[in-house]
Amino acid sequence: MRPAGRSELDSLYFTYPHFDGPSDRARLSDDAPVAIVGAGPVGLTAALTLASEGVRSVVLERKATFNDGSRAICIARQSYYILDRIGALKPFLEKSLGWTTGRTFYRGKQILEFRMPDSEAERFRPMYNLQQQYIEQFLWEAAAASPLIEIRWQSAVTDVADEEDGVRLSVSDPDGDYAFKADWVLAADGAHSPVRKMRGLRLQGENYEGRYVIADVRMEHNYPTIRRALFDPASRPGGTVLVHRQPDNIWRIDYQLREGESAEEATQEAEVRRNVEAVLTDLGHTGGYDLEWWSVYSANTLALDDYRDGRIFFIGDSAHIVPIFGVRGLNNGLADAQNIGWKLGWVLSGRAGEGLLDSYTPERRGATLDVFANASKSTRFMTPPSHGWQVMRDAALSLALTHPYAGALANPRQMVPYTYADSPVTLEDDPAFSSGPAPGSVAADPPLDQGHLSERLCGFTVLSFGNGPDTGALDWMEDVTVLRIGLETDVARAYDAVDGTLYLIRPDMYVAARWRQGDLDGIKNALGHILQTSGGAQ
Ligand SMILES: Cc1cc2nc3c(=O)[nH]c(=O)nc-3n(C[C@H](O)[C@H](O)[C@H](O)COP(=O)(O)OP(=O)(O)OC[C@H]3O[C@@H](n4cnc5c(N)ncnc54)[C@H](O)[C@@H]3O)c2cc1C
Repeated sequence: MRPAGRSELDSLYFTYPHFDGPSDRARLSDDAPVAIVGAGPVGLTAALTLASEGVRSVVLERKATFNDGSRAICIARQSYYILDRIGALKPFLEKSLGWTTGRTFYRGKQILEFRMPDSEAERFRPMYNLQQQYIEQFLWEAAAASPLIEIRWQSAVTDVADEEDGVRLSVSDPDGDYAFKADWVLAADGAHSPVRKMRGLRLQGENYEGRYVIADVRMEHNYPTIRRALFDPASRPGGTVLVHRQPDNIWRIDYQLREGESAEEATQEAEVRRNVEAVLTDLGHTGGYDLEWWSVYSANTLALDDYRDGRIFFIGDSAHIVPIFGVRGLNNGLADAQNIGWKLGWVLSGRAGEGLLDSYTPERRGATLDVFANASKSTRFMTPPSHGWQVMRDAALSLALTHPYAGALANPRQMVPYTYADSPVTLEDDPAFSSGPAPGSVAADPPLDQGHLSERLCGFTVLSFGNGPDTGALDWMEDVTVLRIGLETDVARAYDAVDGTLYLIRPDMYVAARWRQGDLDGIKNALGHILQTSGGAQ
């Protein structure tokens, strides 16, 4: 919602573009290897991932511009690796605000300062703040520059029907209705996913009671990019307030509604202003402010039982809805898009068998269930669901006023990538290792003399340490990059490597397999298993 007199897209700092529907439809194709429903951040990331694998896609989006309101604002380090791999990173680094620190206050007194793991050796900061409009704009700019991506705005998908070798979509645009045929469909159509409903599928899980008003204000406020959590502040006795800095002098203020407080009343402009002003007083802000946008939000942990239905894959919010306190909604969606994107790319180009696609649900739904387990804890802390939880939470907070160790109880769990240890395409670990990234985890990214290891990874990458096997013998397979790495290096130390150690890293930077003393047959067999090509990928 916006203040009286301003329309939904009338932002104080962002100019929403208007995209016309497709012109001269007769000249447009009516089929594609992949159709993507929804040009939100997840759909666009999937299109860019497919394009990086050489696969053409058509993105069908019912709106004429980006999503309104600021919505997601926190992008995690791992998502920056995804943005890097799809060639969209530069504007994100230029515009977003990196941060490492959070401060927690109870009744106005600071009880905790936490720092997310970070060092000069890291390529990216643990977290970046950037409004979702910019996220979508930067992804759209990258997609618009790709000859392999066609985005059709004002084009709503109204039906999907299975065919023997693909899916027929019914599309409605300003010129009327038409049919579109795709071999595969990625449903990136958001939390209310019409495609999910067309397939008769339902999200399963829990709804939480706590509701928050989310308000963005513009103000000159001299405080670094540090997330502030205020428990039981003077502005909201008994409640919780979160404050985040965003680019363009925009500040996100989230405050909890009390039990019995009506969402309808709480979202009246006068009421939002009264509450925002009380929070600004808590923050010691004495200057003015402009109200940009607000909305009301409640926490859910909901997911599909299976992210695949025939030739349709659900990605992002269409597959799962997670509470915003763990900042995982968008971040998890980007990882879904990358995961199915590279796998479909390898299948469509004939380099992998369709069996590879069976690993999408276990890997990405596993990641969602992991978020649920942790988000439930932080949501209950932020928004106690019962009197008992409230008493326990308040006891921990008041103890922290005098006993610093108790402040750690208010430490939100940090966002670390999920490990695909149980994936059908993760190989068993070699017990000879005592440290380093195990199969199923994200590859470590130590610095090189110039840049970082991640900048050298490409497709499937073999890290061959010391005098490993003759890597020329790997020429039998296209798209396998071999990096030879010395033993006296940060990389060798981070990977617990000795002479002859081999690691096999997937296109999404996850470790697929490793051997303390490896040989080429091991790699060949591992690739054959992962890519579901019988007898090795030759
Ligand atoms: C208030 C709020 C705050 C949030 N904060 C955070 C945060 O800090 N960090 C975080 O990680 N996440 C956050 N999230 C979650 C994040 O915004 C979502 O996870 C993210 O937008 C999901 O992206 P998506 O592309 O899956 O879906 P969406 O962004 O919803 O995009 C779906 C697209 O599909 C289109 N579409 C729908 N139906 C059709 C159809 N039939 N045909 C064609 N197109 C269609 C829609 O128009 C839309 O453009 C927040 C969400 C909200 C609401």
